[in-house]
This record gives sequence, C-alpha cells and structure tokens, in this order.
Amino acid sequence: MKKTILKSLFCLYSIIVCIIFVSCNNQINQNRNPAQETPYLNVPYTGQWINLTEHQLEMMKLEGGAEIETRKPNPISNNRLQLKYPNILALRGSLKENKVALTFDDGPDPRYTPLILDILKQYDIKATFFLIGARAVGHESITKRIRDEGHAIGNHTYWHPNLDKEGVGRLHWEVTQTEKALNDILGYRPSLFRAPYGSLNEELVEKIGEMGYSAIGWSVDSLDWMQLTPRQIKNNVLSNIHPGAIILMHDGGHWTMDLLGTVQSLHDIIQELQKDGVEFVTVPQLLNIRDRK
Ligand SMILES: [Zn+2]
Repeated sequence: MKKTILKSLFCLYSIIVCIIFVSCNNQINQNRNPAQETPYLNVPYTGQWINLTEHQLEMMKLEGGAEIETRKPNPISNNRLQLKYPNILALRGSLKENKVALTFDDGPDPRYTPLILDILKQYDIKATFFLIGARAVGHESITKRIRDEGHAIGNHTYWHPNLDKEGVGRLHWEVTQTEKALNDILGYRPSLFRAPYGSLNEELVEKIGEMGYSAIGWSVDSLDWMQLTPRQIKNNVLSNIHPGAIILMHDGGHWTMDLLGTVQSLHDIIQELQKDGVEFVTVPQLLNIRDRK
C-alpha cells in the first residue's frame, strides 16, 4: 500500500516538473530576440518583427558578402580609372559649383528606405538611389515611391556580386537583368550604374561604357557601411565635403546590417550643409547627364 502511494506521489511530482519545464520553455520562446535568428528581422522604431520568407531573406543578402567584409574604404585605383575613362566614370561633379549629391546604395530596404525618404521629403531634397534589382522586384511600392518623389535611380546589379572577381560576362547579365526589372516597375531604364563595393577594373569600365551607362563612384565616403554612430557618420561627411561632392551612403545592406546611424545622421548633415549654402541635387543634375535610356 505504502509503495503504491509513493509511486503515485512520484508520478505526480514528475508530471508537475514536466509542466513547469514546458511552461518555462514557452516563456523562453516568447522572450527570444527574433533579430538573432535567421528568418526574422527587427524593424527599427516600430518595435515590430517582420517574418520573412526564404525568398525575401535571400534578397536581403549580398552575394559578394557584407560591405564590411568586402569593401575597401578608399579604392584609390578608381581615381586612376577615372583619369583613363573620363567619359564613362565619374567620381565627383564640378569644383566650381556649390552643389553636392547624396547617394544611397543597396536598397530598396523596407526598414530604412522609407525613413530616409521621409527625411529627404521634410527638407525637400532630391537624392540618387542605386537599387539592387532583386530587391526592387521584392519591394515594388518603395521603388515607385523613390521615383514618384523625384529622386534619380541607378542600377546597382541584381545580386550585388563582386564584379572584379566575376568578370564582364557576369556584369552584362547583372546589368541587363536589373534593367528589365526596373523598366517593368518604373517604366524606364536608368542610365546610371554603380559597381557593388566600388570594385572596378579597366575591362569592366569599358563594358559599362559599351552598354550605354555612366559609371558613378563617389568622392566622399560616409563609411556608414561600418555601422557607425550618427555623430561619426556626420563627421566623416562634413570633414571631407567639397563643392561637387558625390556622397556615398546606404539605405540597405546585408540583412544583419544596422543602418539607423545613417538615418539619424541625415538631419545634421543636411542642416549643416544648407547653412553653408550648399544645394543638394541628383547625380544627373550634378554631372549634367541624362538619367534615362
Ligand atoms: Zn552596394
């Protein structure tokens, strides 16, 4: 009899332990940080979680790797290329006019692009967005919003490979695929091209020229792709600014990248430069070139 009672008590104890364990586990699951797990993304400011499909997550990766792993901070070789191909590759506008162009790479990104567009609208400033084809296809409404709000749009390849490693065949595929995607969404084919990671060589520049594109580099790197603070990003821009500057920033990146520093730095950068009488224009306006073909 005693044995049976003891057995029953042990069973009851086991059941209680199991219930506590399961409920604790649920608690842990509820408190997990989805941003740490592959198929979820944290949306800044809203505190909501986006649940991405596998395809959407694929779009949020950069084929050539995260900028922070692949990009050289100052590709000096591009200055030599610019001297050799002045009609194809531009790194800045005229030093004689107090105009600069803000440029944003790697979007559209549902987390950052709308926030950046809101700020540009607030100051009535036009900028230039170099879009990744696969992301434009995944975020058509943001792509159209960029166009509708008067910004210039450029081709930044379909999957963001490192073209210096991949070669001209791949360049041709990436550019034409993105061209088709953007034409379907926007109704025109942009004529500006920016190489992922700014990674170029003579063969690539010649091919870009043959395809009827202007290759656009930059003269001021905000280094925002290093995920810096707003203050650091602002200082990088303002301490290197010059008339005719093409300023490199990002409205998207590898899915793990936090670009809130970019968003938050924009108010100060715009206000400081406007105080100095600087006019913000698009890249085609800065270089006096056509932006559609
Ligand atoms: Zn890029």
